[in-house]
Amino acid sequence: MSAEAVTVQATKNHKETVVGPVVLLGPPGAGKGTQAKRISAHYGIPQISTGDILRENIEKGTELGKQSGALIERGELVPDELVEKMVTERLAQADCARGFILDGFPRTVKQAEWLDKHLAESRYFETATGGNRLVVVQLAVEYTKLLRRLTGRRTCPTCGHIYNANTSQRARVDGVCDIDGSALVTRKDDRDDVISQRLKNYRRQTLPMVNYYARKNRLVEIDGAADLDVITAAAVKAIENGDSL
Ligand code: AMP
Repeated sequence: MSAEAVTVQATKNHKETVVGPVVLLGPPGAGKGTQAKRISAHYGIPQISTGDILRENIEKGTELGKQSGALIERGELVPDELVEKMVTERLAQADCARGFILDGFPRTVKQAEWLDKHLAESRYFETATGGNRLVVVQLAVEYTKLLRRLTGRRTCPTCGHIYNANTSQRARVDGVCDIDGSALVTRKDDRDDVISQRLKNYRRQTLPMVNYYARKNRLVEIDGAADLDVITAAAVKAIENGDSL
C-alpha cells in the first residue's frame, strides 16, 4: 500500500466506519476482482462479485446455475431479474451492514437504476441530504492490454487469488498458487472467442451504464494500467472523499 493510503489508514478507523457502498466498474480484465479484494481487506467489508456467485451456483448445480451456465460460457449477460434477485439476497446478509463492494454489478443501465432504487428503499446508506453514499469507481484500461490480461488470467480455486501469466502478477511457479499450492485454473469464459464476445457486450450493454453514472457526476475514473498499490490508494482516496456524493 502506498504512502498516501497509509496516511488515510492512520487518520481514520477504516475497519469501523460505514464505507461506500462502492461499485467497481471496468471492462472484463480491468482488474475489478483484484482491486475489490484489496479494498475489501482494507475496510473489512465484503466483496460481492456477481460473477463469482454465479460460478458458485453453476458448480453446485443450483437452479440459478442451470439458468445461467450456458449464457456465461457464451460470454452473454445473465438476465437482469436473475442477477438483481441474487444481489438482493446477498445485500440482506449481516456482513453488508457497514458497506460492501460490488464487483461486476451493475452491468446494464437497468441494473444501475435498480440499484439506486434498492439502496434508497433499504435506507441503510442514506446521507443527511437523503441521497445514498454510492461511490462509483471506473478502472480504465485500453483494449490491447485487456486482451493480454484476459488470456493470461489464472485463478486459485481454493483461496480465490488472481494471477496473470502475461503480466508481473504471475505465480512464482507457473500454474501453482503462491499462497496454498493449489493448481491454478483458467476460467471457461477466458477463451479467445468468448473474450471477444464479452468485450463486445461490454461496449454494447455496459458502456451506456458507465455513461449513466458519468451524467450524474458520480464517476471517479482511475487508470487501471497503473501499479496495483497506486490504483488501490486512488480508490481508497475516492471512497474517503465520498467523491460520488
Ligand atoms: P465476471 O466474473 O464479472 O467477469 O462475470 C462472468 C459472467 O457472469 C459474465 O460474462 C456474465 O455472463 C455473468 N454476469 C456477472 N455479473 C453479471 C451482471 N451484473 N449481469 C449479468 N450477467 C452477469
